[in-house]
Amino acid sequence: MAEKRDYYEVLGVNKNATQDEIKSEYRKKAKKYHPDLNPGDKEAEEKFKEVNEAYEVLSDKDKRARYDQFGMAGVDPSYGAGSTYGTGDFGVDLGDLFNSFFGGGGSPFGGFDTGSPYGRRKTANSPQRGSDIRARLNLNFFEAVKGCKKTIEVAVNETCTTCSGTGAQPGSEVKECSACRGTGYVTVQQNSIFGAMMQTTRPCSVCGGTGKVIEKPCTKCHGAGTNRQKKKLEINIPAGIDDEQSLQIRGKGNAGKNGGPAGDVVVTVNVKPDELFNRNRYDVYVRLPLTFTEAALGCEINVPTIDGKVSLKIPDGTQTGKVFRLRGKGIPYLNSPGRGDQFVEVMVEVPKKLSRDQKNKLREFERTLSDKNNEERKKFDDRVRKM
Ligand SMILES: [Zn+2]
Ligand SMILES: [Zn+2]
Repeated sequence: MAEKRDYYEVLGVNKNATQDEIKSEYRKKAKKYHPDLNPGDKEAEEKFKEVNEAYEVLSDKDKRARYDQFGMAGVDPSYGAGSTYGTGDFGVDLGDLFNSFFGGGGSPFGGFDTGSPYGRRKTANSPQRGSDIRARLNLNFFEAVKGCKKTIEVAVNETCTTCSGTGAQPGSEVKECSACRGTGYVTVQQNSIFGAMMQTTRPCSVCGGTGKVIEKPCTKCHGAGTNRQKKKLEINIPAGIDDEQSLQIRGKGNAGKNGGPAGDVVVTVNVKPDELFNRNRYDVYVRLPLTFTEAALGCEINVPTIDGKVSLKIPDGTQTGKVFRLRGKGIPYLNSPGRGDQFVEVMVEVPKKLSRDQKNKLREFERTLSDKNNEERKKFDDRVRKM
């Protein structure tokens, strides 16, 4: 498979782009490379496909989140998954195609087949991937923004060391199930809703779909082939991870069957909100209270960023609601270079609990004010007068 370009790069937007920006860039590029407008141009055709693929992912909230976290592996099942346990005989398995049309399974190891006439017949002894383990992890704002190392404890079904996962006491016999002749499946006739007889396949109830009958179950795992064990896992939390995003730790989940690979541990993070910093995707928002005098006269003030303090020049006459942008002072993009921005929103704090002396001084000051000092107020008064 040819190396795929980054979807953000394909559309020419940054990782922080809004849905509108993505849509508008997509439209431009799709028009530019549209096959109707570039007849016979192979390169344009490829570009057109590339642009559509990128848009399909980035325009979908869930897919985009998965792509941000896992890259191509998060959105393209054919990427890197390595389905070494496929049928092998056919390049494309019709059953898989059907499954993907109906939204089924997707995983090349996914349990019993659907009974569809195109379904791949998995034997009871074919390798099965172990199931995933889901865990949650609490992080504070800075742990998520900067990345960190964490240790979690998970209960994992590990292959039994006594029987090596067979479930049988070492030295005892494992017989082929006579009910299903070792396949793990039985075929049953059934009336379909259309009145015709239909054949469906079900897991064999005698052997529980394993195709085997164990004479003497292993004393350690009682025939299960696995033992549940608590395990500590050290996880590297990448910088930039956000609330409700997940990390996939490959191969650390429950043991597979018949030599199949272990499942994953999927850790979803909860990020505790911070008092000072608010986050939206990769941008950081901070509210800056200024005194009436600071806002009127202008000032230089230290503003917190995730890297420490930054000096910010406030011009005279700054109003409440004014937003300053600190470029590149936001959160590092997850799994790619670059960062978001920090936005600083001014809030002019009106002084409270004034003393008599202070009040008198303010009244004295008020008398010196002209329309030039308060343009907004003058506009407002003029409009009211005209009513
Ligand atoms: Zn059976
Ligand atoms: Zn055992």
